[in-house]
Amino acid sequence: MPTLSIILPFHNEAEGVRNLFQRLYPVLGGLGLTYEIICIDDGSQDKTYGALCHEREMDQRVKIIKMARNFGKEAALTCGLDVASGDAAITMDSDLQHPPEVITDLVAKWREGVDLVYAIRSNRKTDSYLRRLLSRAFYAVFKAIADIQMPEGAGDYCLLDRKVINAIKQLPERNRFMKGLVAWVGFTRGMVNFDVQPRQGGTSHWNLFRLVRFAFDGLTAFSTFPLRIWTWCGALISILTFSYGIYLTVRTLISGVDVPGYASLMVGMLFLGGVQLLSLGILGEYMGRIFSEVKRRPLYLISEQSGFNKE
Ligand code: UDP
Ligand code: MG
Repeated sequence: MPTLSIILPFHNEAEGVRNLFQRLYPVLGGLGLTYEIICIDDGSQDKTYGALCHEREMDQRVKIIKMARNFGKEAALTCGLDVASGDAAITMDSDLQHPPEVITDLVAKWREGVDLVYAIRSNRKTDSYLRRLLSRAFYAVFKAIADIQMPEGAGDYCLLDRKVINAIKQLPERNRFMKGLVAWVGFTRGMVNFDVQPRQGGTSHWNLFRLVRFAFDGLTAFSTFPLRIWTWCGALISILTFSYGIYLTVRTLISGVDVPGYASLMVGMLFLGGVQLLSLGILGEYMGRIFSEVKRRPLYLISEQSGFNKE
């Protein structure tokens, strides 16, 4: 019988743990598969770890990894994929925003032979207006400049066949923009739709600042366009200023020296200064990421694990 690994990242989700498992078991029981539930405690400061241990006492198919600190959701998912032993894995949020009932549809598609099944959120009703706007902008920019196709509304709720898991495990980068990595590897794709649910307890871990940084991670990981655009801007500005220079020279030769010019000088200087700082900033963004790649630090550190054979 094929096996399925459910991968759940937890960061301060103690109050919802019991509820989540209560919803998961009936769905998983009805699949006719053997399964394991891999819980990654991503440095929670509340009682999440205790609640997970309690679940494991009741059912040994629950396996737990406790990270040494909070390494972020992307690292937690990477860790889950590293230790998963199933013929397929499903990654999903642990706050019940991703309804477990959708697993049945995901597995049905997988059985039809699809390697990568996305659960696509059919709306963003649970997101704030600003977040919706930003996410739409992100997808538009990403689509325009990135080298890969990522379906809009696809999040981290998806089913990955063993082939896809092994492919992702081969990707060595530190910058884990999981959605992008999953899309990058290819294979046959399918989709199922679902309605995002309101969060059960707690609040989202993504504030505006973190979201923008995350969007930058995604863009810089899959596009060099922001780097290259400055070549074109530079060329354009050079051509314009060169023509203006010729015009000024000719005008001075014909009608003599003319002192006023403060406004045009200021505007030109400030504008160019701004453009230069912006392009330097972009260089810095990429350089920072190259720096973190060359350091080759591990993506995550495990402090405790139960249910896994190795170590
Ligand atoms: N999460 C995590 N580590 C983090 C932040 C979040 O493992 O540093 C988990 C969190 O427990 C949840 C999932 O990632 O299961 C999604 O997080 P959240 O609900 O805060 O994000 P949103 O649904 O608002 O995108
Ligand atoms: Mg959530």
